[in-house]
Amino acid sequence: MKTYPLYLNGEFIATDNIWPVINPATGEPFARVSTIERARVAQAVSDAHAAFPSWRKLTGKARGLFLRTIADELERRRDEIARTMTMENGKPLAQSLTEIAMSIDHLQWFAEEARRTYGRQVPHQVDGKRHLVIRTPMGVIAAITPWNFPLVLAVRKVAPALAAGNTIVLKPAEQTPLSALGIAECVSAAGLPKGVFQLVLGDAAPIGQEFLQNPLCRKITFTGSTEVGKILIAGAAQGVKPLSLELGGNAPVLVFEDADFERAVEGVLIAKTRNIGQSCIAANRIYVQRSIYEKFLDAFTRRMKALKVGNGLEPGVDIGPLIDEAGLTKALAHIEDAVTRGAHLLCGGKRIGEKGFFVEPTVMAEVAEDALCMKEETFAPVAPIRAFSTEDEAIRMANDTASGLSAYAFTNNLDRVFRLMESLEAGTIGINDGVPSTSNCPFGGLKQSGWGRELGSEGIDAFLETKHVSLGLQI
Ligand code: NAP
Repeated sequence: MKTYPLYLNGEFIATDNIWPVINPATGEPFARVSTIERARVAQAVSDAHAAFPSWRKLTGKARGLFLRTIADELERRRDEIARTMTMENGKPLAQSLTEIAMSIDHLQWFAEEARRTYGRQVPHQVDGKRHLVIRTPMGVIAAITPWNFPLVLAVRKVAPALAAGNTIVLKPAEQTPLSALGIAECVSAAGLPKGVFQLVLGDAAPIGQEFLQNPLCRKITFTGSTEVGKILIAGAAQGVKPLSLELGGNAPVLVFEDADFERAVEGVLIAKTRNIGQSCIAANRIYVQRSIYEKFLDAFTRRMKALKVGNGLEPGVDIGPLIDEAGLTKALAHIEDAVTRGAHLLCGGKRIGEKGFFVEPTVMAEVAEDALCMKEETFAPVAPIRAFSTEDEAIRMANDTASGLSAYAFTNNLDRVFRLMESLEAGTIGINDGVPSTSNCPFGGLKQSGWGRELGSEGIDAFLETKHVSLGLQI
């Protein structure tokens, strides 16, 4: 079994402290990865700090060229990296390839944005003064990422941070370090100066504390659970450390009677089942207008039953395994809880086999509003459905959550579209669109789903300081 290194100050370094990497389709380890202690992470931060002055001095165009080269290398190696991603994460191979394509697009987008970190001149109000607003990089950025999109969520941080002239230390999730190592390999092949990008792995809590307490680390950008986000918020108080937080969601889907019916069924299906339901913007709760409720249940259940479940490396698989035992236990507990509260199980509901972490695609109707699966992220191909009568009732139920990451609606009524856009409490709203994220538009959460935005032009703003320079001139 191969043992993989970390990437520290321009070198691939193996350590004696190794962790297994588990294939969720088998429940067995298939690789090992090196880990380091907090003190070595502190060294990585120091090395990133040492690399900062010369990296920031490069022009945005020059940094953008490095990002393009990373993108080209990722493209060249996409089949191999996609296979590794499927083995450590479980997602079907076609979806790993899509994740790589999106990562390449993000790298290209931020390669272009590197040239556009504009400041501005502000008209003066006092004779002899002039005012400039300039944008400068922050310094060393720490990035902490989750397992569900192990490549693209890291790229959303690494690409804009580097484009803006920062250096970065990335800590991926314990379950999926090898996709992040793929970035390190592409960075190395692209010839980035040593220390500009580093990959660390080890016990999450002490590494998080190092990032919080080390004054050389100027910002933490985190994607993961709201629970860990709150730990970082508390820890950031001491050093007033800036945070960007992409946290958990609980996305509602509203299907109105005036929607294009087939399009709505397909849109809800993809929003629910993409990434095996383990997406922060996954359709968690589905509300369907009463007049089309039975018809929708029937059509949607038929589509869910037809999905092929299996090892993501096998051709034609739609649904791979959940990430781990804990993910499976949570999904089954949510199903049991909903049924106990009166939900009707229309399909699925059980674990598949003993090996790996597979659950049947599941549809439940008449799910109680206070069922766990309506209140928390289920992170599984489990679809709880409820009927609504009026638009007001649908909006009330959609917004009845502490999360505000994404929401979906299917309707062909233009007036309704505008009412929904303005009233749904979510950072991303898909109208007749089950896959709304894109490189060129901002992504992030309202309420307890986080602080700040990634992607779009906002994505690079998150890694720039804004300074006002007031010039006293004799003119
Ligand atoms: P998680 O448990 O919060 O883990 C995310 C990352 O934080 C991992 O790298 C983890 O390391 C690390 N971590 C854990 N405890 C930490 C601590 N005390 N200090 C610092 N870092 C710590 O989340 P997850 O279960 O991997 O991911 C699923 C969650 O992420 C869901 O809630 C999902 O909605 C959310 N998510 C949000 C977005 C978004 O854009 N808003 C996107 C994707 C996912 P270890 O792996 O080593 O524990």
